[in-house]
Amino acid sequence: MSAWRHALAVALLATPVAWAQPAQGVAPAAGTYAFVDVDVLPMDRDVRLPSQTVVVRDGRIVAIGARAEVDVPADATRIAGTGHVLMPGLAEFHGHIPGADDPASVQDTLHLYLANGVTLVRNMSGDASHPQLRAQIREGEIDGPTLVVASPWLASANADAAVRDVRAHHAAGFDLVKLGSVPADAYAPMAAAAQAIGMPFAGHITDGVTLEMALDAQQASIDHLDRYVEFLVPPGTRTGDRDAGWFGSGWVQWADRGRIEAAVVRPRDAGVWNVPTLSLVEHMASSESPEAMLQWPEMRYMPAAERERWRVAKHAYAARDTFQPEAAQALVTLRRELLKALHDGDAPIVLGSDAPQFFNVPGFSIHREMAMMQAAGLTPYEVLVTGTRNAARALGTPDAFGTVEVGRRADLVLLAGDPRADLSHARAPLGVMARGRWWSREALDARLAEIAARHAE
Ligand SMILES: [Zn+2]
Repeated sequence: MSAWRHALAVALLATPVAWAQPAQGVAPAAGTYAFVDVDVLPMDRDVRLPSQTVVVRDGRIVAIGARAEVDVPADATRIAGTGHVLMPGLAEFHGHIPGADDPASVQDTLHLYLANGVTLVRNMSGDASHPQLRAQIREGEIDGPTLVVASPWLASANADAAVRDVRAHHAAGFDLVKLGSVPADAYAPMAAAAQAIGMPFAGHITDGVTLEMALDAQQASIDHLDRYVEFLVPPGTRTGDRDAGWFGSGWVQWADRGRIEAAVVRPRDAGVWNVPTLSLVEHMASSESPEAMLQWPEMRYMPAAERERWRVAKHAYAARDTFQPEAAQALVTLRRELLKALHDGDAPIVLGSDAPQFFNVPGFSIHREMAMMQAAGLTPYEVLVTGTRNAARALGTPDAFGTVEVGRRADLVLLAGDPRADLSHARAPLGVMARGRWWSREALDARLAEIAARHAE
């Protein structure tokens, strides 16, 4: 959509929202910065470039080179990099940002992402206010990661309504359609209408639609590894009246690993992205009690009501007959095998955890997700690629961000150690730059403390 048409759609359709002003001292300007004597992980290849100077001006990387060869502009704010590592910020490709009815929670959520080095969020629960929020972040009026905004959950009653709704969401300035609960026979007409206007559609796979149908329709991404277990169950298997259950948990005993290769080749050939959200299932399947999980350090940043929903949900899942410990563990094992096979088979993968679902605290959960991907067999570097370069590729803008190169958007994290050696070095960055605006750890922590204090009341 052209810029003017986008602006018009926002002006006509978005509800004006009075977002709270950012907390004092946490609203840096996008000016000129120089990271001096820093080791760079460019992420276009698996190398660490020692003792570099990286200059950022007005939100873009404008110079990179050996310390002795790059002049630090006189007006630059210098950021000491000696012994530290600079890499691109991370993406959360399946996140949920609250709506305009809860502006304080929106700002808290945006900060939780920044504080964890997440500089781009593909929001998957659309609200009418989100195109405006996206623009305000882009203009620097609100602090937060760059947003890609999905429409509200598509819940059209029939094919005609689905086609209408897709066009309306496009006109309203959303970047993609969030698949919801359309009837199975509405999926193909909806997909055709979306393709005709260049509107991606993504998320889980709607009821009654198979993995093959979603791939044939060029769904932009398949999230949660949805329908893969069902695909692995050979046609003709006597499943009786047993429901496939949550992400195939009810059918996992019939999954045939001999079909994994076919499950890898198809999305690769279709060029359809996978957003695994391993943590979504693993948090529910783990043997850890929900009460113990609520003791995790990051839980202090979540409202009590949300934490209680998670606790109740985990107990409810434990009571489902398709989610008893053996089947739940088999599901986790199979999903990890599948992810490793997809990766090794060059099927496109982009990092996403589905926060704030089920113990996924925004930002913090991306680090838990990355640890799970490593446990599935990816190297730390391969995991980091899914959260950086691949996010830019998945959006069709491979040159916009996701690597440390001249011309890229200045979405960067400064780390105390090399996350290719240990992914935990990506947690709690020393500082985060989003669109050329810099937050020191001190500034990030001050605002985190404020959020925690509010939820402790
Ligand atoms: Zn979700």
